[in-house]
Amino acid sequence: MKGNLFVVSGPSGVGKGTICEKVRDNDGNIFISISVTTREVRDNDIPGVTYNFISDEEFDRMIENNEFYEWAKVHSGRYGTPRKIVEEKRAQGIDVILEIDVQGGMIIKEQSPEAVMVFVAPPSMEILEQRLRDRHTETEEEIRERLKNAVKEIEYEDRYEHIIVNDNLDEAVRELHDLILNERNS
Ligand code: 5GP
Repeated sequence: MKGNLFVVSGPSGVGKGTICEKVRDNDGNIFISISVTTREVRDNDIPGVTYNFISDEEFDRMIENNEFYEWAKVHSGRYGTPRKIVEEKRAQGIDVILEIDVQGGMIIKEQSPEAVMVFVAPPSMEILEQRLRDRHTETEEEIRERLKNAVKEIEYEDRYEHIIVNDNLDEAVRELHDLILNERNS
């Protein structure tokens, strides 16, 4: 049976990456898509693991060759989901998670209506700001940009079928995993 497709969106700093990784680590049948991006490599990035980092020219070439399932400009870079690997994994019966922004989420929803749409929301904007500051990966200017973007992202919340409020990591992990298991067994 073909693997299911899950879109997980939510503002930067909400913890969606950690939630997805923990779910994947507890389940042998989940693949988290590795996006391609033009943004600069940060200290905590592992090229080829967190993202595949490419130049603007390479990104343009991938667009021209129709290699993206979706792509969007987010913050100061372009990010995209390579189509081929997602299709290959699903054909092998593996569930695929796309951890992408709301613009990309809307494109996937239109192209693949069977995709299960999950939005990870912060308990409050204050807590989101604190989390962004505590991770010490962005400059002050970047934090402001991400908070501004978070307000826009949260406006898309009601276009997602499932909302997980990340106020307790273990519970959020369980909720996402339950959703995935439900789809697998239905
Ligand atoms: P960051 O640079 O902080 O890792 O990610 C910035 C934002 O880009 C996050 O909201 C993340 O979900 C989003 N993002 C990462 N990969 C993709 C992608 O392939 N497509 C789209 N549309 N957004 C992505």
